[in-house]
Amino acid sequence: MKKKLIAGNWKMNGCLSANEALIHALRSGLPATVACQVTLCVPSVYLAQVQSLLTGSGFELGAQDMSAYEGGAHTGEVSAAMLRDYGVRYCLVGHSERRQHHGETDAMVALKAQRALACGITPIVCVGETLAEREAGATEAVVKRQLAAVIHVNGHCISEIVVAYEPVWAIGTGKTASAAQAQGVHALLRAQLKAASSQADRVAILYGGSMNAANAAELLAQPDVDGGLIGGASLKAPDFLSIIAAAG
Ligand code: PEP
Repeated sequence: MKKKLIAGNWKMNGCLSANEALIHALRSGLPATVACQVTLCVPSVYLAQVQSLLTGSGFELGAQDMSAYEGGAHTGEVSAAMLRDYGVRYCLVGHSERRQHHGETDAMVALKAQRALACGITPIVCVGETLAEREAGATEAVVKRQLAAVIHVNGHCISEIVVAYEPVWAIGTGKTASAAQAQGVHALLRAQLKAASSQADRVAILYGGSMNAANAAELLAQPDVDGGLIGGASLKAPDFLSIIAAAG
């Protein structure tokens, strides 16, 4: 059985002192053995600091976004190779906040995933429907369209990605998808991956959207839920440690 993956998404939060305090609290609260993999997706400016604070922890370093381009005249962008220089192992691509507020299209997300893979970074490809799309019965069509774009560009490498199903209506709202709702969408995504690759069982499909200490165990017990992508609760050491324990 593959290990579950717990990914914290700090979003645009943190400062040098708070990062140090959070990682210190996480490291001192961890049990001697942790059964899951853990990554912290931190703002790019803190990669060097967090890389150093995580040394010897077993946690992997993650980023929240990257450029679709290799390098050159793209002011303000950070390339996959630059992330790799800091030991980044995972990078979120296509988070709904980037799709909604920064105009990221399915095609751009697919290119980012491709560029990440080319640099040895595992893209965590985020997909998910808005509330209006769910209410219109379009959940399946939306998540399949978003994943299809990434499959189309990445071909047989698709078994190297991680997928995160994040219903937009559940992100930062305190409204969580029920375990059955999450499992239903994860099963669809798994079937789509299987149709594209014989190695699809290797792909971890994470659930994200108000996952917390109270609901993590039930969500993580679903057969196609291979881990969690956690925003708000990843900023509170006791909550994040409880989620890590639930994934064990
Ligand atoms: C996220 O930002 O990916 C997320 C799931 O946030 P939250 O856990 O706060 O809903």
